[in-house]
Amino acid sequence: MTNSATAPIRRALTTLAEDELLFRDSVLEFARAEVAPLVREMDEHGSLSRPLIDKLFDLGVMGIEVPEAYGGAGGTFFHAVLGVEALSQVDPSVGVLVDVQNTLVINALTRWASEDLKSRCLPRLASSVVGAYALSEAGSGSDAFALTTRAAADAEGFVLNGRKLWITNGNEADIFIVFATIDPAAGYRGITAFIVERAFGGFTVGKKEDKLGIRASSTCELIFEDCRVPAANVLGQVGKGYKVAIETLNEGRIGIGAQMVGLAQGALDHTIRYTKERRQFGKPIADFQAVQHQIARAAMEVEAARLLVYNAARLRDESLPFLAEAAMCKLLSSEVAERVSSLAVNLYGGYGFVKDYPVEKLYRDAKIGQIYEGTSNLQLQTIAKQVMS
Ligand SMILES: Cc1cc2nc3c(=O)[nH]c(=O)nc-3n(C[C@H](O)[C@H](O)[C@H](O)COP(=O)(O)OP(=O)(O)OC[C@H]3O[C@@H](n4cnc5c(N)ncnc54)[C@H](O)[C@@H]3O)c2cc1C
Repeated sequence: MTNSATAPIRRALTTLAEDELLFRDSVLEFARAEVAPLVREMDEHGSLSRPLIDKLFDLGVMGIEVPEAYGGAGGTFFHAVLGVEALSQVDPSVGVLVDVQNTLVINALTRWASEDLKSRCLPRLASSVVGAYALSEAGSGSDAFALTTRAAADAEGFVLNGRKLWITNGNEADIFIVFATIDPAAGYRGITAFIVERAFGGFTVGKKEDKLGIRASSTCELIFEDCRVPAANVLGQVGKGYKVAIETLNEGRIGIGAQMVGLAQGALDHTIRYTKERRQFGKPIADFQAVQHQIARAAMEVEAARLLVYNAARLRDESLPFLAEAAMCKLLSSEVAERVSSLAVNLYGGYGFVKDYPVEKLYRDAKIGQIYEGTSNLQLQTIAKQVMS
């Protein structure tokens, strides 16, 4: 028997504490009122609205885990997951902006930065500055530590040369976490994380990709040509960047799980509404048992994916092991997002295939979940390693 005075409070995974519920509902309300009217235009133009980003700062979702002492909301990782999920129900592009800001950039800074770096970066990230996380290169994606961007040490710090590819928020960001090697011969032990500011000489943001989905989210090349970075801008320790990368990405993928659960829930909500309105054979298509069963299966899958995401996030917040659970939640939720958004297109019929209705975009947006922050094959590899060791 556990002593009830010392026993942890056990709740259903989906039962939210009062602050979590208030936070989730306020973000969802914001998404429906402020994001929804802009979704189509931002998708077509391939860019996020800056006034919308400013409103996201005002709402407090750009600095969820930033401690109050640095001007943030002082929330938990679970709050970040709830925020990403709620925004992604309406627009997964806005979801990933907030996700990268919180689960990668701010997360890495709060865990690894010196006091000096924290006080220089965190108040700005919580109030007005977007961040980006630059690990991937043209030749190193899944094999991330084969990166070739060089950081040569000199008297004042480091000189960076090389290129990064696929960097989310590249267009909007002013603060970039950049991974480079101080010694290619040292393998992963040469990798070091740096804070690079947009204004640094020798640093330019290059081509923005024209994408299948999450089109409003910018995905950019970063170019470093003798970019000088002060020694004080090393994030963590020299040669320990691999640890920063592995540990933040392990957590970040829970955020992608949340993005995909939100997307799937959004597609499901649209589908339920539409099938009740659309009439064929003299009645709403929702009256057909075949349609009901498809929707029931989709609802079950969304629920299962959400439980995995919430469990992984709660494990992380309780400092318990979560590696396999994080990989499982990302793998399942990205597959569910693809299946549920595909069903949504099917049940909208011809209207599902055109841009006047919301589900074709969600179908396009779903695909990225199986690619970034570790492809599905890499998630399977992580799970296999954990369960078979
Ligand atoms: C829209 C978008 C946004 C992104 N945002 C960021 C960002 O903000 N920051 C960042 O650093 N990166 C970002 N990325 C990069 C992303 O993380 C990589 O694209 C991803 O890790 C895959 O790498 P790759 O594209 O080089 O594919 P590859 O690694 O070349 O993989 C190609 C295929 O081979 C498979 N494969 C590779 N190795 C193995 C293996 N060992 N076993 C089995 N299968 C394998 C993969 O599963 C995949 O199917 C983004 C990418 C996109 C498209």
